[in-house]
Amino acid sequence: MYDIIIIGGGIAGLTSAIYASRASKKVLVLEALSYGGEIINSIDIENYPGLFHISGVELANRLYNQAKELNAEIKFEKVEKITDDKIKEVVTNKNVYKTKSVIIATGLKRRKLALQNEEVLLGKGVSYCATCDGNFYKDKDVAVVGGGNTALEDALYLSNIAKTVYLIHRRDTFRGDLKTLNLLKEKENVKIILNSKITKIVGENILESIEITNNENVIDTLNISGLFIAIGFAPENELFKDLINLDNNNYIIAGEDCKTNKDGIFVAGDIRTKEVRQLVTAASDGAVAATNAIKYVNSLDF
Ligand code: NAP
Repeated sequence: MYDIIIIGGGIAGLTSAIYASRASKKVLVLEALSYGGEIINSIDIENYPGLFHISGVELANRLYNQAKELNAEIKFEKVEKITDDKIKEVVTNKNVYKTKSVIIATGLKRRKLALQNEEVLLGKGVSYCATCDGNFYKDKDVAVVGGGNTALEDALYLSNIAKTVYLIHRRDTFRGDLKTLNLLKEKENVKIILNSKITKIVGENILESIEITNNENVIDTLNISGLFIAIGFAPENELFKDLINLDNNNYIIAGEDCKTNKDGIFVAGDIRTKEVRQLVTAASDGAVAATNAIKYVNSLDF
C-alpha cells in the first residue's frame, strides 16, 4: 500500500512527490502521457525564481530526476477511477493500487475552437503546439489564434521559421506580456489581426485556408498552411465529478490548504480553484498538498 498516490506528473505533482518522498513516505506518481505537463512546450521560461532562462523540457527533466533520486516511483499509466474509502483504490488502465491518500494534480487540458475540421485536420495543418510542429512550416504562411502568453510566444517562435505569421485575437487588447507583444510588433513578417474570430477551418485532407469574421461581421479568407490554436486551457474533471466538489467551471474546490471535501484527497496546481495559475503557484500547491497529505497519513491508525 502506498502512503500517497499523486495523479499527474507536471510541476505540481512532481513537487508533491519531492516533498512527500523527503518525508520518507511511500509515493507513487501516475502520469498518463509524459512528465512535465504543459511546461514542456515552453522554449524559454523567464519567471521561475532562481532559474532565469530555462527551457520547459530542462525544468521537467530536473524535476523528474529530483523526484526519482528521492525515491518516488513514477509510472506512465492513465487513471480511470479512484475511490474515497479509508483505504483508497486508484484504478489505472494497467493496475489497481491501494493508498492512504491521493493528491490530484492533473492540470488543465487545451481548449479547442470547437469548429468543424479542427479534429480532422489535426496534424494536417492544425496544431496545438508551435514548438513541436513549427518546423514543418518553414517559409510558409501560418496563423496563431489567441491573446495570451502562449499565443504571443508561439507567434514569436514561428516568426523565425514561417514566411508570414498572422496573429488573430478576438479582442483589441492582449492578455499576454507587453514585452513579448512589443517584440512581435518589431517583426516585419507578423501581422496582427484584432477583434476577429476564426469562423471556418477549410481543407479536404490538408489545411487550405481559414475564414475570419471581425466584430463588424466582415468576413475574410486567409490562405495558410498552418493554424496554431493557443486559446488557453480548461479543466477536464469527468473522472472526479461524482467524487469531489467542483465549481461551476469544473475546477476542484479547495482553499490554500489544498484539501478537498473528501478526507485524504488533496488537490494541487492549475486544476484547483485559485486566482493565479503560474509555475511557481503550481509548485507551491505541490508543497502544501504534500505537507497536508503527510499530516493526514501520520494521523491514521493503520
Ligand atoms: P490564457 O492566458 O488563458 O489566454 C487564452 C487566450 O485565448 C485569451 O486571450 C482568450 O481571449 C483567447 N480565447 C479563449 N477562448 C477562445 C476562443 N474560443 N476563441 C478565440 N480566442 C479564445 O492562456 P495561455 O496563453 O495558454 O496561458 C495560460 C497561462 O500560462 C497564463 O497564466 C499565462 O500567463 C501562462 N503562460 C506563461 C508563459 C510565460 O510566462 N513564459 C508562457 C505561456 C503561458 P480573451 O483574452 O478575450 O479572453
